[in-house]
Amino acid sequence: MTDLTRLTLAAARDGLKQKSFSSAELTAAYLKAIEAANPSLNAYVAVSADEAHAMAKQSDAKLAAGEGGPLEGVPLGIKDLFATKGVHTQAASHILDSFKPEYESTVTSQLWRDGAVMLGKLNMDEFAMGSSNETSYYGPVINPWRADNSNAQLVPGGSSGGSASAVSAWLCAGATATDTGGSIRQPAALTGTVGVKPTYGRCSRWGIVAFASSLDQAGPIARTVEDSAIMLGSMAGFDPKDSTSAELAVPDFAAAVERGVKGLVIGIPREYRMDGMPEEIEQLWQQGIAWLKAEGAEVRDITLPHTKYALPAYYIVAPAEASSNLARYDGVKFGLRDTGKDITDLYNLSRAEGFGREVKRRVMIGTYVLSAGYYDAYYVRAQKVRTLIKRDFETVFNDGVDAILTPATPSAAFGVGDEDMKADPVKMYLNDVFTVTVNMAGLPGIAVPAGKDSAGLPLGLQLIGKPFDEETLFAAGRVLERSAGIDFAPTPWW
Ligand code: GLN
Repeated sequence: MTDLTRLTLAAARDGLKQKSFSSAELTAAYLKAIEAANPSLNAYVAVSADEAHAMAKQSDAKLAAGEGGPLEGVPLGIKDLFATKGVHTQAASHILDSFKPEYESTVTSQLWRDGAVMLGKLNMDEFAMGSSNETSYYGPVINPWRADNSNAQLVPGGSSGGSASAVSAWLCAGATATDTGGSIRQPAALTGTVGVKPTYGRCSRWGIVAFASSLDQAGPIARTVEDSAIMLGSMAGFDPKDSTSAELAVPDFAAAVERGVKGLVIGIPREYRMDGMPEEIEQLWQQGIAWLKAEGAEVRDITLPHTKYALPAYYIVAPAEASSNLARYDGVKFGLRDTGKDITDLYNLSRAEGFGREVKRRVMIGTYVLSAGYYDAYYVRAQKVRTLIKRDFETVFNDGVDAILTPATPSAAFGVGDEDMKADPVKMYLNDVFTVTVNMAGLPGIAVPAGKDSAGLPLGLQLIGKPFDEETLFAAGRVLERSAGIDFAPTPWW
């Protein structure tokens, strides 16, 4: 039999329905692949083999009876940011040591409702803060891709680096991820996978460890545009437990995938042509424009004048919200606790030991920009900038633009332990230069693998859509995927 782990999510789902193989077999194949690969890739921080076997068995019983949901028997990986009842949930942080929630996040409960099987929890940057998956307490995730003729280890991007690496290396049929400033789209671009950051409010945030609540959104990372549409269909939906969740019906995303782009107006924002951007990224962008035109889209130059302020404003808003959200980790209610001479000492010692360097940096920045005297100068101003960024997008969409095409990242995957980025955190932050605008404006975005650089590493393009119009992104994303016609399969070395 062909290797079951290589099937797309759609093909696995169909094969299960047709009883070409069972969920028990498919699940066992994934667990075996994880066991072999994880010592090299470090994509999973916890494997829930017992749960996986039990869920697969249940799915097989349903499938045998001709029943089951849209994901019946399909094995998925779950980012460690999602609360999974009774199963390791630590946001890849030391401070949540041994935390096992009493409840299930809304997004994961919808996946289980639809029949999916949980393989385990995926590594990530600590509290989703990072762009390389090197801030995890559990160590870095390694990208399954390597440059031609090189054995150097590359990062998979972050913060959903475990999700991206696992999907790319066939260690799950699809994965959940979250995106606050680019954490779904950037790792997808760096691993040749598809990542979807839905409109803010499309997926419930209930039961997802909060980073920056006004920016956080859950979404899928998958191997194809169709797979990502299928997953989002199960993940999305109104949830009264999240007051920012949108009370809207979930469209049939998968049905939109083959719609094409004929007659659509695609905007090309001039501000995304950054100084010092590698020529290969510019070429890929031009190639994407040509593909969309060839399929009948009208391409139009647009301007989003406040783009350059998005990254600085994000690095005020996101840390501000993080410093507030992370105040709850005090050593009393969850996870790690140090003994101190009094309660204040206990708080201080637990937080000093439990949080990593990047998380501490964010808490300090956030506390600073929210403090009396600086609040107006930083936080209030950043919120005003945010409104202007949102308005830029509204203007172009009101002028008839249906979606916007940009590069997904300013470079291909970089090396683990990159000295430049270690020395200067702002260099790391620049990875999100094309993605943060979308979070600041609450819009949907998709990253689709579209080409390779001269070293053979995957590069992605990003499409940005109107609020709650993920369907157009799937349709246009599929055109890019089909036009590229590349099988984004890394050469296994692990
Ligand atoms: N890299 C960005 C940050 O570190 C975005 C992270 C994310 O989207 N979770 O804040």
